[in-house]
Amino acid sequence: RFPAILVSREGEKGQKVEKTDLGLDDLMEGDVVVSVEHSTVNYKDGLAVTGKAPVVRRWPMVPGIDFAGTVDASDNDEFKPGDKVVLNGWGVGETHYGGFAGKARVKGDWLIHLPDGLSGAQAMAIGTAGYTAMLCVLALERQEVTPDKGPVVVTGAAGGVGSVAVSILSKLGYEVVASTGRAGEADYLKGLGAAEIIGRDELSGQPRALNKERFAGGVDAVGSTTLANVLSMTKYGGSVAACGLAGGMDLPTTVAPFILRGVSLIGVDSVMAPKSRRIEAYSRLVRDLDHDKLAAMTTTIGLDGVEQAAADILAGKVRGRVVVDIAA
Ligand code: NAP
Repeated sequence: RFPAILVSREGEKGQKVEKTDLGLDDLMEGDVVVSVEHSTVNYKDGLAVTGKAPVVRRWPMVPGIDFAGTVDASDNDEFKPGDKVVLNGWGVGETHYGGFAGKARVKGDWLIHLPDGLSGAQAMAIGTAGYTAMLCVLALERQEVTPDKGPVVVTGAAGGVGSVAVSILSKLGYEVVASTGRAGEADYLKGLGAAEIIGRDELSGQPRALNKERFAGGVDAVGSTTLANVLSMTKYGGSVAACGLAGGMDLPTTVAPFILRGVSLIGVDSVMAPKSRRIEAYSRLVRDLDHDKLAAMTTTIGLDGVEQAAADILAGKVRGRVVVDIAA
């Protein structure tokens, strides 16, 4: 048997979270069984564990949208026992038992081999948040937002997506403007490579259709008025990669940035991203994410700490990334 975090329905809308023991028979269908060594707490895991948004769509559920571990048994030609693997998304932790457990049984199609140059713990320090940050950078590159075009803004900069985005962009030579609501994290963000720190409130006021052109591009984890302000400040021909809603799901913008400045808004989804894109993102993460910076943004907890970390991430109190060491 192995330990797991299980969330179950309680009453009409409530839910209960418990640490329990499960057996292999409790796991859901799949052709690969993995011994999970590390998982992580992303914003979506916070929503799933607390029940603040309907992320869990099958009850009970083992949350945890990411895991890294070693294959125990496999009926899939691509994987054999002993292989080191990583999983991000695909509805795991939402509709299929996920990473907050000692074992997982999943479709082999959802797994990728752990890339050379990364440990399982590092892959989880990256997690969905970091892999999504890389997808955002790749999106900006495809739009030809290159470092010579001018500064790029990262919103929600001290969070998971933000911290990884700041680190990667600065290593690639961009001038990174980091927007944060936590002035006390300025030194942390400078350590990750931010050239300038701006307050969250500079981007959260009532957006105007157009503002002074300031950014060549951006990575936005916040949405709502923040994204609308970023769009209004994006330079002619620039692009913004939007992946998050930490500030809200709405987007109170106008068509002005698009039709008068040729600005592009690029949507980024990690959950259903095709395997080729995942492999590309991981190979770039190996190359373009500084391991010391990754370590500096990471805190490690055990399964016992998941419930608290889930509440903390929704309260905007988590700095960088949280790794869950299943054996701790
Ligand atoms: P996180 O660590 O909590 O980071 C979010 C950051 O946003 C916070 O640290 C905070 O940064 C800022 N923030 C929080 N509440 C805010 C508010 N009310 N107004 C303005 N800023 C606020 O979460 P994460 O795991 O990085 O995820 C970030 C977002 O991306 C989430 O919405 C998540 O669902 C989304 N996401 C989407 C995908 C995808 O596939 N599209 C993948 C991963 C994540 P500061 O303290 O620095 O201001």
